[in-house]
Amino acid sequence: MAEDLSAVAARENVWEMAKRQLDEVASLIGLNESIHGYLRQPKRVLEVSLPVRMDNGGFKMFTGYRVQHNLARGPGKGGIRFHPDVTLDEVKALAMWMTWKCALVNIPFGGAKGGVICDPKHMSMQELENLTRRFTTEISLIIGPEKDIPAPDVYTTPQIMAWIMDTFSMQHGYSIPGVVTGKPISIGGSLGRDKATARGCLYVVDEAMQALGLPIEGATVAIQGFGNAGMYAAQLMSARGYKIVAVSDSSGGVANDSGLDARGLTAHKLETGSVVGFKGGERIDNRAVLEYECDVLVPAALEKVIARENAPRIKAKIVAEAANGPTVPEADAILFDRGIMVLPDILANAGGVTVSYFEWVQDLQANFWEEEEINERLKRVMTRAFREAYDQAQRHGVSMRKGAYCVAVDRVAEATKLRGLYP
Ligand code: GLU
Repeated sequence: MAEDLSAVAARENVWEMAKRQLDEVASLIGLNESIHGYLRQPKRVLEVSLPVRMDNGGFKMFTGYRVQHNLARGPGKGGIRFHPDVTLDEVKALAMWMTWKCALVNIPFGGAKGGVICDPKHMSMQELENLTRRFTTEISLIIGPEKDIPAPDVYTTPQIMAWIMDTFSMQHGYSIPGVVTGKPISIGGSLGRDKATARGCLYVVDEAMQALGLPIEGATVAIQGFGNAGMYAAQLMSARGYKIVAVSDSSGGVANDSGLDARGLTAHKLETGSVVGFKGGERIDNRAVLEYECDVLVPAALEKVIARENAPRIKAKIVAEAANGPTVPEADAILFDRGIMVLPDILANAGGVTVSYFEWVQDLQANFWEEEEINERLKRVMTRAFREAYDQAQRHGVSMRKGAYCVAVDRVAEATKLRGLYP
């Protein structure tokens, strides 16, 4: 009997996977051996224990992390994840990916990431607020607008960013909106930040469709994950003319070959907490969405969902990684051999951190831009990053992931070399 795919994926260590992706491009770009060794390690790792007051009057201990992988190109940047499966290795991998992502889109940040082991689906708002404020306090040693700027990630929201901003500001005695991005608009958030990950993904999928000579109108799309990235991807891609044929979230999925109504799906998700039970489609399981017959597959949930076992069954022509780390290296090789274009996470989901950068710049200047301007700038950044990665991929005859890594790792290596060794 075939082994359960989640068990197979669980065997892969995500931190080993991140280092292997770096190793695979080192010789391609002639990366200096010492710098290669330097980039294989995170610069700084902070583990914190959090006593959090719970609704029953007692307190419970939680564990959290903030990892800064590399700060050569600027302050650390990267989200905070609240999830029961968070591990230090996962946060290290996510921080390394942020370094490459910021370098690829050429924004002046290094890479960082945070995570707290918790199950926000089973916590009250008050408990989540207590947890967030205590975590912020514990990591306030190393965060700040010039040091390291957190943002949302899996299961963290603008409200949680507001608590981070408030906690940090109260400790300093004045408002410091630039300490965190992804905030609500009324306290220094940016227009367009909520949809930015999905919008950036749409822009690079458009570019890929054009590069492959495929028509956009009516092209079919399957989306795994219906959170901030997946939900807005469904909306924006269907408004652009793509046909959404299958979607799923952690409870299951729905499919309809004549197209799912993205607005109806969103309303159903917001009302019931899941896409399951949506009347406009047939029920399918979460994993079947990945293997669904479609032109574009958008994994928009968690790591390691495309593994050696299911990669041969993926039917899409383009895989756009709205999630971080959805494809393991073996699966990457299989997809490349099968002629499937994988738009890597550091490109496909970089729209989020790009608009986070715009938010940080607006906060520092206390001068806010129109949404139109933000979307135009985002489009320029994403299109340029796509072309640079595509050129490298063509030049070396390698995958888009390797092409993107060539551009990104080279930029970080150059900054590291120019700054030299201290002391
Ligand atoms: N968590 C998002 C990511 O993985 C956004 C990070 C940010 O905006 O700093 O890219």
